[in-house]
Parts: sequence; structure tokens; C-alpha cells
Amino acid sequence: VTNSDTQEVIDRIRAGTHAVVDLDAYVANIRSLRALAPEGAAFMAVVKADAYGHGMLHCGKAAAEVVDFLGVARVDEALRLRRAEVSTPILVLGPANPERLAEALSNGITITVGTQEHLEQLVRAVESSGRRATVHLKVDTGMRRYGFIGRSAVDAAVALDGHPEIDLEGLYSHYSSADETDLTPTRDQLDSFNEVISGIRHHGIYPRFIHVANSAGIIAGIAGNSNLVRSGIATYGLSPSDELQLPVGFRPVLSMFTSITRCHQLGPGEGVSYGLSYKARASEDVAATGIGYADGLPRQLSNTGWFVVREQRASIRGRVCMDQTVIARPVGAQVGDRVRVFGAGQAGEMTLDAIASIAGTNNYEIATRVTARVPRLYVRRGQVVAWEHLLLGESHIVVDDIDCEE
Ligand SMILES: *Cc1c(COP(=O)(O)O)cnc(C)c1O
Repeated sequence: VTNSDTQEVIDRIRAGTHAVVDLDAYVANIRSLRALAPEGAAFMAVVKADAYGHGMLHCGKAAAEVVDFLGVARVDEALRLRRAEVSTPILVLGPANPERLAEALSNGITITVGTQEHLEQLVRAVESSGRRATVHLKVDTGMRRYGFIGRSAVDAAVALDGHPEIDLEGLYSHYSSADETDLTPTRDQLDSFNEVISGIRHHGIYPRFIHVANSAGIIAGIAGNSNLVRSGIATYGLSPSDELQLPVGFRPVLSMFTSITRCHQLGPGEGVSYGLSYKARASEDVAATGIGYADGLPRQLSNTGWFVVREQRASIRGRVCMDQTVIARPVGAQVGDRVRVFGAGQAGEMTLDAIASIAGTNNYEIATRVTARVPRLYVRRGQVVAWEHLLLGESHIVVDDIDCEE
């Protein structure tokens, strides 16, 4: 691909609905989190779910330069990173699909074991493939989702440790409520976890990594005796919850843009979009834009959300459709104008938190909703360094050697 072709593709992506991912903000957020974690702790950037909608490949590559581990939920997510030549240790946090174990082991992917059944599957995969396995043992201290409870975790550690081809590298648990004001459940979880750690040490087993804190745990300063922390949401510059906000200095990484596709005038009493749920009282200028719920914009924003065009706030008129949304037309707005859908909020646009609040969910869900047809531009120092268009199967690095902002 030549430089002029590259510029043409970037211009074409910019002209339509697209997401911009600020890799400088991402790396800076990771650095800020490291500073909040226990001194000397290793850092895992969680890039599951396509990096919370930000794009796993380019976020994973950017993170790999500054972290010790990448975290994903599924073996397939780890395989995608390995196929893109990411050699950083990757931990699969969720239960591994047994059909995928052999491939995971041959790609040097670290597996979580959290039930007796999965332990046996792993042992079988190790024995039949002849590969070594690096394993983290998951302890369920309250989530009741995945992991061994209490005494059974100690037994599992003893079983794994006794296997010559298995390296029990880590022991971890996961907080259910570290993003809430009341930290009692979190302290209880930490107590249960510490009990398991002692039980395992009693057998002379000392896994290299002990970890429990997610973003909320890191920010709230409750990482226990961890020497590894795992963070997803905060690396993307998003707060874990309304109660637990990010400290100042963190910056949202993801912004979304679209463009105006048509301008027209509603007559008095005329309705707009499905169900004609918005009716103009007097004549009103409106503009159609090229973004809808199939791009990840919640339909709950109908008649409630807003975009920003030419530095003016433009309310959504009528229902958000699958592929288009109508807005009040700001003064001077024209077909082709760039429309800010959401972002850091500095231009008055909706933040992911604002959208989540309207949609009755959290910022995690809104970020992960950004769909495969939305091309993403990756930016460092204001310059596009990569793009990805999942729908077209395109992923391209424009500049490889640019340093991130200090
Ligand atoms: C998703 C996940 C995380 C990251 O959580 P955040 O709240 O996004 O920081 C950490 N640990 C486990 C086990 C997870 O599944």
C-alpha cells in the first residue's frame, strides 16, 4: 500500500461513520494505573471483547509495549493476538473451550483453571499434546461465576503442582463489588482469598503471580498482597461505576463520528423517523446522519440524546434507526459535515457515561456495542498510525515507529 493510497483510505473512513481510538490516552491511562497499583506489581491490560469495543489488535499491540500480560476472555481472542505476532503473555480469564485447549497450549497461551472438570480437561490436553501448560488457578471468593471455592482451591493447586508438565504460575480471584461505596463484600473476598493463599503455601506451593484487583480494586487501593493487577475499563479512560470515578488525569480513548447525509425542513406538525414520535411544533430544520443502533448507538437515545455539529449541540429527533438518526440541524450545518456522536465530552458531546445513563446500563456495555461495520482509526500524536475495518477484514499499520506521547 503506497502513502497516497493510505491517505485516500483514511480520508474515505473519515468521511463516514467511524471511531477514533487515541492510543496516547490509552498508554497514558495504563501508566497512571500502574502508579496506583502496589509498588512493583506486574500489569495486565484486559483487551477482551475487542478491547471493550476499541479494537483488540491495535490496542493489544500498543499495550504490549508497556504491560506484562494481556487478558482476554476466550481462547479465540488470544489466538487472534498470536496470529498478529503479539508474543506477550496472554491469560484467558474465562473457562477455556476444551476443543480449543490443544491450540491454546501450542500457541503458548496461559489458561485459567476454575473447576475440577476443566482441570481434568487440561491434564488430558497436556498429556495428549505433549505440550507444557502455564496455568493460573481461579478462586471463587464471592462472584459464584467461575473458580474453586475454599478448600477445593487448595486441593486443585496441589493436583496441578504435582503435574510435571504444568506450571502453576498464578493464583487469582475476582471482585464482585469493588466499584461500590461499601467495601465490606470486597474485604470479605480478600479474607477468603488470603485463606486460600495460606492453605496453598502450607503445601509449599508459591505461584509467581497473585492477583485480585480489577480497575475498581486498583483505584480503591484494595489489591491485597497482589503482585499483578488486571485492568480493563480504566485503561480506556472510563470509570468503573458512578460511585467509583476515575481520578483526574485519565482520558477517554474512544470517540465516534458520523456525517450529515441530508438536510431538510419539517413543516409544522410534521413527524420524523419510525412512529413519527417527534413532531415539529413550528417549521424546523433537521438533518439526517449516517449512524444508527447497528453501529452501537442505543435506541434509548431516541428523542433524548444529542450530537455535536459545528460546535453546536444537536438534539436527536425521533427514533434512532438501525442505520440513520435524524437531529435538529444546527445553524450552518451542511451535507457532509462531520458529526461528533460521543467522546471525551470536551466539545459538549455525549460521553459514554452519559449514553449509559440514558440507556440504563453501564459504560462497559456501550463501549463493547460498537459493531464490526464501524471502521476504527488509531491515532498517536494526532496522526493516524493504523486503521481497522473488521467488516472488510482490513487491518493496516500506517506508521510503526512513532513513539507514544510521554
Ligand atoms: C473483565 C475482567 C477484568 C477487567 O475488569 P475491569 O473492571 O474492566 O477492570 C479483570 N479480571 C477479570 C477476571 C475479568 O473478567
